[in-house]
Amino acid sequence: MPSRVATAAIKGASAPIALSCPTGTRSLRPCAISPPTVVTQPCGIQVTTPSVSLALSSSPARTNRRASDYLFFQESFYNLRHHHHYHQHHHHHRQSISMDTTLAKLFSNNDQWVDAVNKADPDFFEKSAQGQSPKVLWLGCSDSRVPESVLTASRPGDIFVHRNIANQIHPDDDSVLSVITYAVEVVGIEHILVVGHTNCGGALACLEAASGKIAPPTTPLARWLAPLTSLARSLDLQGASTPKAIRKLVEENVRVQVANVVNATPVRAAWESGRKNLWVHGLVYDLETGRLNDLGITQGSFTR
Ligand SMILES: [Zn+2]
Repeated sequence: MPSRVATAAIKGASAPIALSCPTGTRSLRPCAISPPTVVTQPCGIQVTTPSVSLALSSSPARTNRRASDYLFFQESFYNLRHHHHYHQHHHHHRQSISMDTTLAKLFSNNDQWVDAVNKADPDFFEKSAQGQSPKVLWLGCSDSRVPESVLTASRPGDIFVHRNIANQIHPDDDSVLSVITYAVEVVGIEHILVVGHTNCGGALACLEAASGKIAPPTTPLARWLAPLTSLARSLDLQGASTPKAIRKLVEENVRVQVANVVNATPVRAAWESGRKNLWVHGLVYDLETGRLNDLGITQGSFTR
């Protein structure tokens, strides 16, 4: 059973409907129909339509203010999409570009999202353009199934991000080090999250490589994953089933990367200068349930 229900005015649809919002696209399905009602659209115009309750196809159990914002944005978008004026004033200025359907949908969703956000929060983009002050830095995997803003129902401006294959924090990687430095010294980040995830393809590749002969890496990907492959070798996972071995490697990888963040110069410098409001956390995202799990290995100035 869906745990959260949003009501929106639509015209008698019955199939699931994909909705775009600031944090992605989710599927809603109508689950109840009531008599026609007068609905005031976000732009102020009133229309008479049948009212249909929409249930989110997924069932987030934990609610907070951000999740409410997220639903609000979705609902606004939904109302907008079914506004009788919508199709008249909605023109795609990008139609002259030749695109396949994947890209066309992406741009179309972007147009609809911009319209929805403008209706729900007219000052949003103007405020957004003036600067950012996110409190969270997310260091995660590139995997498309772990989109930090979607799974935390965050808005643009909430999370500073660096993602790479298998969420590696290599001590000699200027890309991630510059992100951490900028996040800590300029942006004012308070929480650095190192986030691994179950069924990580990078971890699986390392497990497979670790069961073979030791050989110098010959591709960029193998070079990138060499430290994780060494970690897999050191864990002695040969007796474990593949799912258990991946889970163990994913978790151990997060522990190692948390240590790498803790030892990174900007983080050490911040703590040594007496900064109290900077923490490093280790999390694992569970693809099967959608839950973020805290490994309980948080470090901060109090642990120094
Ligand atoms: Zn991954």
